[in-house]
Amino acid sequence: MKDLYIDGSWYEAGDGARTDVLNPYDGSVLTSVSLAGPADVDAAVDAARFAFDNGAWRRTSAGERGEVLRHIADLLIRDREELARTESLDTGKTLEEGRVDVDDVVAVFRYYADLAGSDAGRVVDAGSPDVVSRIVHEPVGVCALIAPWNYPLLQICWKVAPALAAGNTMIVKPSEVTPLTTIKLVELVAEAGVPAGTVNLVLGPGPVGEALVTHPDVDLVSFTGGLSTGERIMANAAKGVKRIALELGGKNPNVVFDDADFDTAVDYALAATFAHSGQVCSAGARLIVQEGIHDRFVDEFAARAERIRLGNGLDPETECGPLVSAEHREKVERYIAGALDAGATLRAGGKRPDDPALSDGYFLRPTIFTDCTRDMAVVREEVFGPVVTVETFRDEQEAIDLANDTDYGLAGAVWTTDASVAQRVAGALRHGTVWINDYHPYLPQAEWGGFGKSGIGRELGPSGLAEYQETKHIYHNIDPTPARWFKG
Ligand code: NDP
Repeated sequence: MKDLYIDGSWYEAGDGARTDVLNPYDGSVLTSVSLAGPADVDAAVDAARFAFDNGAWRRTSAGERGEVLRHIADLLIRDREELARTESLDTGKTLEEGRVDVDDVVAVFRYYADLAGSDAGRVVDAGSPDVVSRIVHEPVGVCALIAPWNYPLLQICWKVAPALAAGNTMIVKPSEVTPLTTIKLVELVAEAGVPAGTVNLVLGPGPVGEALVTHPDVDLVSFTGGLSTGERIMANAAKGVKRIALELGGKNPNVVFDDADFDTAVDYALAATFAHSGQVCSAGARLIVQEGIHDRFVDEFAARAERIRLGNGLDPETECGPLVSAEHREKVERYIAGALDAGATLRAGGKRPDDPALSDGYFLRPTIFTDCTRDMAVVREEVFGPVVTVETFRDEQEAIDLANDTDYGLAGAVWTTDASVAQRVAGALRHGTVWINDYHPYLPQAEWGGFGKSGIGRELGPSGLAEYQETKHIYHNIDPTPARWFKG
């Protein structure tokens, strides 16, 4: 199967290398895809470089580019069910979660279609009637866009849409574990009429991404993934002084005060931690509950967690799918063992399901630990699975201190019926997004990204477009006369 897309044509890897793509529900082989080699990466970058330097895309008007983005959005809607189903098969997430992802990226393409068309730069008052001074935005150039496996379609679209809107060319690399919806997206991009060489696709593991990051003809790297990979990318990108945008992990506090609407807070705490089996960068994996309701809250939370139905993401009865791979489940299980060793109390889950029908898949029961302290690895590090730790606090200041005691700073939530407390805590949290009496919503118009080690830069919103733009000052002296700075 030809599945590398370079300069407007589909190819197999030059050396014919392929890898299997597995269904995490039962470990079966869904299909196989090409593994790009160094020559394939070079060809993809060459195509993007040539298209940027000589091609049509950057010279089309922002309005025309917006029309193409709207066309891509329409095609995504047309193929919504196929995309959602493919995402479910590839990642294990439920079909409904897959549909939500498609709807999100449709909105993102439409948002950037509109935003690009409305960006006219700005005129600057240069203090003279004889000068026209203006600021314009131009594309950065060749972008390497590298995405993780948990939200393959969504994460790559958050990059492709603004990068296209700004007039760049690009090479896209999904995770080797979940490449299928990205291949489909590139098909739709081609169908929508994006010119050859503008969007190129390479497939393969980390070294393929590294070859892109270190390639001298790449101008910008936008990466979503783990912290250690992000640090390595930053070091590699430094050699070429490349622009970088990093969306890294999170260890996100979900703070519940005694006066919160109890049932709603429990309900959202479940979604915050166990949606997509906790493989969500913004998962509320640190539940921080005020002492007055702590015991009752944990009882209800654990009882409901035990009732979560695991299964095939394509089954409408399923509420939670498997983890993405056997290796990833083993990593999460090591955190569970470490938490028990460190003295945390297991209140739910902690093991694989007993159901023999699920024994071939990479399932893990929703897991809750209480009696957790901030020094435990399970509290400090991103587990990226269905594991939540519960801490408790006495007063507002202690809640803030706990919530901010993390190297990360991606997202957090506060639950209270006291608007003053809510606003004070939201203002004090050192996190890129704070939800009050809610969890998880994100909007195309609102910036997404992290403080601290959660990353550099922002996706979505106007800043998400700015990541892919250079800013240029054009100063036009319309009546030049000698200035006589030097008298001779
Ligand atoms: P990884 O960091 O392992 O991988 C992310 C991508 O980078 C993959 O495509 C991977 O390829 C590629 N890659 C690996 N090594 C290199 C390298 N040296 N140079 C360039 N590219 C490389 O992350 P995961 O896929 O495991 O995703 C989970 C992580 O993503 C979590 O930490 C999560 O928090 C984070 N994330 C952050 C989000 C945010 O918005 N802040 C959103 C979603 C996830 P391959 O997988 O094929 O090896």
